[in-house]
Amino acid sequence: MAERYDAVVIGSGLGGLTAGALYAHAGKRVLLLERNANFGGAATTYRHGTMTVEGSLHETADPRAITDPKGAVLEALDLYDDLEFVRAPNIYEVRGSIVGEPFVLPHGFAAIETALRARFPHQEKNITPFLRHMRRALKALDYVGGGHSTLWQIAHAAELPLELWAVVRDFRSSLSEVFERFFGDDEAIKIALAANLHYYTDDPDALWWLGYALGQGGYLEGGGHFVRGGSQQLSNGLLKALRDAGGEAKSRCEVFDVELNSEGRASGVRYRAGNNGAETVAEAPVIFANAAPHRIAEMLPGEARDAFMAPYRDRPLSITLLYAAFGLKRPPAELGVTHYSTQLLPDWVQKLSDYKKNADLLAEAPGDRMPLLAVVDYSQIDSDLRGDGLYPLSADTIDQVSNWEGLDAEAYSARKDAWLGAIIRCLDQEWPGFADSVAESTIMTARSMRDYLNTPEGALYGFAMHPPRGPIKAPVQVATSVEGLWLASSYAGSGGYSGAMGSGAAAARAALKAAEASA
Ligand SMILES: Cc1cc2nc3c(=O)[nH]c(=O)nc-3n(C[C@H](O)[C@H](O)[C@H](O)COP(=O)(O)OP(=O)(O)OC[C@H]3O[C@@H](n4cnc5c(N)ncnc54)[C@H](O)[C@@H]3O)c2cc1C
Repeated sequence: MAERYDAVVIGSGLGGLTAGALYAHAGKRVLLLERNANFGGAATTYRHGTMTVEGSLHETADPRAITDPKGAVLEALDLYDDLEFVRAPNIYEVRGSIVGEPFVLPHGFAAIETALRARFPHQEKNITPFLRHMRRALKALDYVGGGHSTLWQIAHAAELPLELWAVVRDFRSSLSEVFERFFGDDEAIKIALAANLHYYTDDPDALWWLGYALGQGGYLEGGGHFVRGGSQQLSNGLLKALRDAGGEAKSRCEVFDVELNSEGRASGVRYRAGNNGAETVAEAPVIFANAAPHRIAEMLPGEARDAFMAPYRDRPLSITLLYAAFGLKRPPAELGVTHYSTQLLPDWVQKLSDYKKNADLLAEAPGDRMPLLAVVDYSQIDSDLRGDGLYPLSADTIDQVSNWEGLDAEAYSARKDAWLGAIIRCLDQEWPGFADSVAESTIMTARSMRDYLNTPEGALYGFAMHPPRGPIKAPVQVATSVEGLWLASSYAGSGGYSGAMGSGAAAARAALKAAEASA
């Protein structure tokens, strides 16, 4: 007997949870299926031994910021009261010979301008125009993509000629091109402003300026935020909204087939439930694909597969990470850690484009060169991650799946341990006493990311954010070649918490509109 629903969601990442919760909230019967034991995809928080591990979140933009799509979702699902977004006091501290003394990037454009002028006085005449250019792009992107009515846009168009020009002028520019125009070859100021480049990519020459301006501009303007209690709180909130609206969510259920009717329209899924592998059919005219399109293609019948994959096949994937988590016996502040987020740059990083060399380092056992590390000390803010236990701290760096392929289980484990040890030694050099304070530790590689999230090459942010080459398209593309099958993940637009939730919301809106039109 087939189960019947109005929609099935494949995957419980933030995009899937958002689409499912909003669709259920609109009165539809929703079934969400997740292959892992835990809901949330990358947005999870879990126990490892006696420590709490935050699975992904360093920071996300303020949901109340004008350009952030999370706010509208939380508002629609009435979740604002259940979640607390804690703002980190600064964006980050950068440590590395390229910037000289550690440099702290504050948040708020005025504070950033002051800090940059004090550190880079020779760039004084370029700092203000650069920050103005970024703010104009942010404002224009809100005007175009902020969900305002046409009437509102007409009323405000006259106020925005410079803002719109900022977007038009750099519509196809990369981050490197824009940085070059304002700062020439001054790599120190570029790194001061973009030391967290690997939240987006490892290649500034191929990073779309406008996508970056929207993401990084949001952080610079409103600060980076952490969900109090960990990212699982956000996933749980969305899950509760889905269930409260009558939706069902099942974990340990892997979808392996997307069914089409005789007209080629989505009509349901087949999934394996639980450990016993029993197969079940769930019929639904709407399917939200939170799993990567590459994985969805494998679930489609042969003739539909090629047409479905055509828009995605040649698109490069976003980056993946190696992620080490630690539980410390002492507050990291006692060891000298001074900020929530610290970008540790080794001496070989002298240019922003040097980030491209990072992933290759992990192809071998640790040697003379250490990778760059983004360190997060969750005790510097009211993260509520620690409970009464160890002090959680994480360190991540850019990785690639090929670094870990071809190793048998023993060699894989030995290489992972070697890198975990090397990272501990590196952090101990920066903050003496670190190694002795580590009570628990674990490490996840690009390979772990790929296997846990079922994402090609371990990609964590969907497709790479390259400058657009062809005709101009809407930034979020949820429709697919299969009627009734919608993308609801980072792969539909941009990655990260905001991107995934924005795509999930766009998918739910599009499916509701289509359902209304066909009613
Ligand atoms: C270490 C790390 C640090 C990060 N830091 C940040 C940060 O600071 N800020 C930020 O904004 N973003 C960050 N990100 C990125 C962010 O977490 C992701 O971009 C976002 O959460 C992706 O959401 P998603 O909905 O696209 O899908 P995912 O989270 O990838 O979830 C997809 C889900 O689909 C499930 N699935 C796949 N196949 C099937 C199937 N056949 N059947 C059923 N289920 C299936 C998977 O198990 C998974 O649960 C980080 C990610 C990582 C891993």
